[in-house]
Amino acid sequence: MTDPIQHPSLHVHVDETVTPKPASRRNRPVSIYDLSLEQLQDRLAVLEAPAFRARQIFDWTYDKKVTSYAAMANVPAGLRASLDESLPFATMKPVREVVSDNGNTYKLLYETFDGQFVETVLMLYRDRATVCVSCQVGCAVGCAFCATGIGGLMRNLTAGEMVQQTVDAARRATELGRTLTNLVMMGMGEPLQNYVDTMRFIGIIHDPRGLNFGARRITISTSGVVPRIDALAAEPYQVNLAVSLHAPTDNLRSQLAPINKRYPIAELMAACDRYIAATGRRISFEYALMNGVNSSDQIARDLGQLLRGRLCHVNVIPFNPVEMLEFERPDPAGIERFAEVLRSTGIPTTVRYSRGVEIAAACGQLRAQHERLEPETISM
Ligand code: SF4
Repeated sequence: MTDPIQHPSLHVHVDETVTPKPASRRNRPVSIYDLSLEQLQDRLAVLEAPAFRARQIFDWTYDKKVTSYAAMANVPAGLRASLDESLPFATMKPVREVVSDNGNTYKLLYETFDGQFVETVLMLYRDRATVCVSCQVGCAVGCAFCATGIGGLMRNLTAGEMVQQTVDAARRATELGRTLTNLVMMGMGEPLQNYVDTMRFIGIIHDPRGLNFGARRITISTSGVVPRIDALAAEPYQVNLAVSLHAPTDNLRSQLAPINKRYPIAELMAACDRYIAATGRRISFEYALMNGVNSSDQIARDLGQLLRGRLCHVNVIPFNPVEMLEFERPDPAGIERFAEVLRSTGIPTTVRYSRGVEIAAACGQLRAQHERLEPETISM
């Protein structure tokens, strides 16, 4: 195995906190997007409305994807008014949309009810449309190369806030003549450190009576929260798992992703093995490739040796430049060489360029940019 590379950027931001601060739920509004169909029926019962209204409201919300109760033409006006008063339709306000030059990447910035900012990205490909959903405001993991981790964790997002991101992206895709086909939880935050709401979120969007989003089209990405990988393996949802690895040795990985100090590589690999054995599903290992940090031939060989024999695939993701950090993307030849050396060890490998460098589409960048802008410079 290789000694860690001593790169100056590795010391820019190392936060050893890996446990989110307890998220205060006090005063946090519940929206229509937080409720299962059964919970909505219970709410309607309190308003003395019949249960079938819940199906109608679900249909307007998830099939027609309206943006207010006012649009629900077959729901009585009195009930719409009561719902407006007691159950906000949505709790996040879109404040900015940025589109890439070629029109295939849309980044949406929301303001939450408590004045936080959250990002969602819609990526259009030839054969699919994918939304990248955020699950936290900020993140406690503090990866050295990530804009989101710089400010630490502000709070967990609710299931409803994640559902809203998804429904809005599905509506936007429709407006663009496309259908939302895939969802990745690779936006701001660590989904497995917001486990309960992440699972509630998946339950709501998966419900065939609502959005009917297939679990196999959902990918949850983790920095390596070992106990929650085991928990995920026991869930009924057949979601895909992506593990952000970024380095094959503990020394280097601990510098890039401090969570490695709590769950070192041997424990992480054992959890991945248990996950594969329990689910029969392949794991994707994500590898942010940074020039001179984790990009050498020897590191590629070490990575191949670490992963050999596992049901897995590696996505090499050339680093997306972040203006607040000093890491660099390798040149195209360096990227291809790393992937080739890894492939030569027998590991299926794909190079995936992250979308929308010019629109700050790397996780946390638009939010960070926005918070440095004067409000009057922000446009929809
Ligand atoms: S890369 Fe992911 S886990 Fe790491 S700090 Fe950023 S959002 Fe958190």
